[in-house]
Amino acid sequence: MMNNTSLQSSNVKVIQLKIMKKSDAILTYMNNKTQKQMKYFNLIGVNGKEVYHIRVYLMSKFDMFTKGMCYKFQNVIQKSENELWVTSSSAVAYTGLVDTEEDIILPPLPEENPKDGQNLSIQSAIKSPSKSVVTGKIVKVSPIKHVQEGTLPVKSLILKDKTATAKVCLFGKNAELNFEMGNMVEVSAVYPKVYCNVTQLTSTALTKCQFLPPNDEIDLLHEEENNQWKNDADFQEEKVDEQENIQLTDIINVDIYDVCQNDACRNKKLINNTCPSCKGTDAKMVKYFKVIFMYQTDKKEDQKITLFKNTISNIIKMDLDFNSKEDVIQFLVEKLPIQCTASITPNNTLYNIK
Ligand SMILES: [Zn+2]
Repeated sequence: MMNNTSLQSSNVKVIQLKIMKKSDAILTYMNNKTQKQMKYFNLIGVNGKEVYHIRVYLMSKFDMFTKGMCYKFQNVIQKSENELWVTSSSAVAYTGLVDTEEDIILPPLPEENPKDGQNLSIQSAIKSPSKSVVTGKIVKVSPIKHVQEGTLPVKSLILKDKTATAKVCLFGKNAELNFEMGNMVEVSAVYPKVYCNVTQLTSTALTKCQFLPPNDEIDLLHEEENNQWKNDADFQEEKVDEQENIQLTDIINVDIYDVCQNDACRNKKLINNTCPSCKGTDAKMVKYFKVIFMYQTDKKEDQKITLFKNTISNIIKMDLDFNSKEDVIQFLVEKLPIQCTASITPNNTLYNIK
């Protein structure tokens, strides 16, 4: 039976948990942004059949936690479905017995977790608060797509094992592998992410795909299961837009900013020094930028387009590392007009850049 553990709001929560594991000692990391050493410790807690990873930033509470005892947490931040952070605005109290299911599988503490994640069934990986390694049969493969203005290849697989079927999203070199329906594959370092109300497994910068011997015990999808993915745009063929000769003629504006250092967040802009995706606060050493250009093609003049650092770098075939807006403008102005051949998507981004 679940007790009063319901969400109080989208990211602040009151929850009662039985503590099953606790870090042996206080852990630290360096916040690159503030150059401050951060201290924390981890707990694994259970309520009913739900398992949570709790990161505690309240050092004064380290001795309060004992394995097997139950605690009430108030005002904790919900980082993801099964990850909670206890911060200076949270409160912790001893509480009565919390119901837990007996045959629950406990994940290791994050510091004990292998770098690529634990080997888990697809069903468990979808609920795991940390990274996992999953193995399954490929029952559907999407066409390769290119996002981030054509610079990042993306491919989705539907992977099936004896416990569940899940969509697995791959990026970069992993997306370029030659997957075929029926292949058995092991995918490491994936974590659950909710996309369009469905929990999928998303790859990270550490993810590796390895082909395994065939397994006839896992069936391909029957029609009804297959239809579940029919309307998923990732599995539909990408329409190829016509290649155009593009001339970037003028610069309207440049925005330069700090981005999340987490590779999986792919240059997400930090808002108030926090990453909107992973809630991390560490920025990359090198800033990211976007530029609004005026451009013309053989058919149109005086058009506007916003291009990001990676795309501009791809167009002019150079690495671009700048730390100020003025440096970006000065460098780019000297290159104008910038020519390239590319396809322009209906929402005005470039891909297939040549
Ligand atoms: Zn991030």
